[in-house]
Amino acid sequence: MNVDQAMNKLKEEGYKHTDKRLDMLQLFSDESRYLAAKDVLEALHDKYNGLSFDTIYRNLSLFTELGILEATELDGEKKFRFSCSTDHHHHHLICLDCGKTKHIHECPMDHSPIYSEGFKVIGHKFEVYGYCEECGKLKEDIEKAKKTIPEN
Ligand SMILES: [Zn+2]
Ligand SMILES: [Zn+2]
Ligand SMILES: [Zn+2]
Repeated sequence: MNVDQAMNKLKEEGYKHTDKRLDMLQLFSDESRYLAAKDVLEALHDKYNGLSFDTIYRNLSLFTELGILEATELDGEKKFRFSCSTDHHHHHLICLDCGKTKHIHECPMDHSPIYSEGFKVIGHKFEVYGYCEECGKLKEDIEKAKKTIPEN
């Protein structure tokens, strides 16, 4: 999914083209990581005076409903990112610090499918949380720095 495809999707579904929507989508496209509503507000509040959380949430929910964004809960906060363009079934490694994601193509359901009698499985969710290389290094450095500071 890219900004043009997303705007087309909105048009197809009968939603108005607004600069606000375009800017929100552009932000997700530029950042290509999970963002919370407050990140969106922070990025756009200079341009749109009086932009409210409510407006942002409503648009984020709409985008998610239309499959433009995908949502997940990280640290008890709902976060959003552009839906992956690929139809290929895959899962994500998600960095808890910066929200960047990486694709993994192994699927746990391939190795140990879950079946229960009388229950028809039509989908599943699987996410792996941790720290990306950059954020992981930063954490290590901080830990090292802490250790080298003598306790008074
Ligand atoms: Zn993906
Ligand atoms: Zn990271
Ligand atoms: Zn899977």
